[in-house]
Amino acid sequence: MNRISWDEYFMAQSELLALRSTCTRLAVGATIVRDKRIIAGGYNGSITGGVHCIDEGCYVIDNHCVRTIHAEMNALLQCAKFGVATEGADIYVTHFPCLQCCKAIIQAGIKTVYYANDYKNHPYAIELFTQAGISMVQVSNKEVVFDKQQAEKQLFVEKLVDKLKDKDIDDLELKELEEQAKALFTGKISEGVLK
Ligand SMILES: [Zn+2]
Ligand SMILES: [Zn+2]
Repeated sequence: MNRISWDEYFMAQSELLALRSTCTRLAVGATIVRDKRIIAGGYNGSITGGVHCIDEGCYVIDNHCVRTIHAEMNALLQCAKFGVATEGADIYVTHFPCLQCCKAIIQAGIKTVYYANDYKNHPYAIELFTQAGISMVQVSNKEVVFDKQQAEKQLFVEKLVDKLKDKDIDDLELKELEEQAKALFTGKISEGVLK
């Protein structure tokens, strides 16, 4: 049994939160962690009680949706609301923070920003994080699988590939299919095996 790392676990938490996003433009999740404990989480969405972009469409000004509060802000504000210290904490975000969130993260005393996906990566945000002595660490979000039927699916695909071996099929082609199937279930798709 594979035990997932802390980074994978916290990023998976953010990925899960992103699924709660109410804005159709981008789904982002953020998890604030202190001493390996999750202290807050957020996703991008409207203010409490407000209408949702997914229902009413986005409210776009200058190419930005102004209706939503970003995931990082929501997580930090959750700490403000309930009086939880963020000094020295880390944040796990699915996407590299925007400039506004970057400034809020710095002011809240966050020490490390773990992010999964590059997202515009504003040069000024990078400059500010660096100045503030905050590390920006990109972590993979491809390893963790929530699929409870994964084992069954893997067995089924293996069976299908085995069946192909009885057929008159090109060896090279078969080997390629076998490798692609394997890559699907080992999370090594990023290495370019899938074409
Ligand atoms: Zn929106
Ligand atoms: Zn933001």
